[in-house]
Amino acid sequence: MRILVSTLLLSCLAVAPWPAGAAPCLVVTLTGTQGGPSSFNGLAGAGTLVRFGDDADDCSTVRLQFDAGRGTTMRLGQLGITPGRLDAVFLTHMHSDHVDGFADLLQMRWHFEYRRPKLDVVCSADAMVPGFAISCRQLVAHVADAYVKSGEIAQRVTEDRDRPPGGPADVVRVVTFEPRDEAEQVWSLGDVKVMAIRSTHIGGHASYRVDTPAGSVVIGGDAGNDAAAPPRRSSTSEQVEKLAQGAAIIVHSAIHPAMGPDKGSKMPRAIYFRQSTASDLGAMAERAGAKHLMLTHLIPPLGAVRQGPWDVPGGPLAEADYRKAAEEGGFAGNVVVGTDLVSVRLPAR
Ligand SMILES: [Zn+2]
Repeated sequence: MRILVSTLLLSCLAVAPWPAGAAPCLVVTLTGTQGGPSSFNGLAGAGTLVRFGDDADDCSTVRLQFDAGRGTTMRLGQLGITPGRLDAVFLTHMHSDHVDGFADLLQMRWHFEYRRPKLDVVCSADAMVPGFAISCRQLVAHVADAYVKSGEIAQRVTEDRDRPPGGPADVVRVVTFEPRDEAEQVWSLGDVKVMAIRSTHIGGHASYRVDTPAGSVVIGGDAGNDAAAPPRRSSTSEQVEKLAQGAAIIVHSAIHPAMGPDKGSKMPRAIYFRQSTASDLGAMAERAGAKHLMLTHLIPPLGAVRQGPWDVPGGPLAEADYRKAAEEGGFAGNVVVGTDLVSVRLPAR
């Protein structure tokens, strides 16, 4: 009887996934908007939270975190979300500004929420570059080595013998994929599907797209064009543009053209040219048909006189400067100049 009831329930769910009156919804929140490894004005490091659900659960059936820079758990905490409530973490690449908060996140999950299912961590397979490998798998395996070596993990296990003895790496299931020039599905849960595509920044960099019944969002990460410097059509990635076709929201790292080598910032050309400019992102978002362009990982941050060691020529930039750049690129939709915890919801309330 119980089996019959649950079978009936399941088949009802398959026909009508949303309770009467509940509409599917998607919320995209920037958990950190700092560009690069610097620390400025309390901004958290790069990260984007994607939530999907319906009106009844505040769009929170599925929670996905993309990158986990410095302070990610603090921003999630402001939203009332503990690491144990995440269904998966996706990493765009192995730069510290995108994973500084990852050990903290896993440590908390291991410490307080180890009884929850293992956390899927989705990222590129090892990328071999001349002389070394860039390895997400190694990052996860060694994510809490300092706490293991210091004795903390063993000591915490004496406080709670049920904690997995290997430490935070024990609460993770790593899912790797080979990033390709065509989008491939790398993860799914119910109605939520995540695709990935290869993009250029450092070896193993990938960009993601989340498709849900409420709409789609693309997380570009730090993607830039495959051509490392001009002449080229755009500083943006052609693969990301392909991935973004028809997506309502694009979240992307942005550099302001004010930092360009012709403007006197002294930022090394290679570092400037490997990022997508706010104006080229505006052009790309328009070509892709996006409704919302969320600029994040801002280089330079709003109000900063310096980006790391490099001056911001002409003085600090304001929100209007990034917006203007994106609009001058041709974007007619909604430009969101990233600040920590800013969100876009689909459908809008
Ligand atoms: Zn970065």
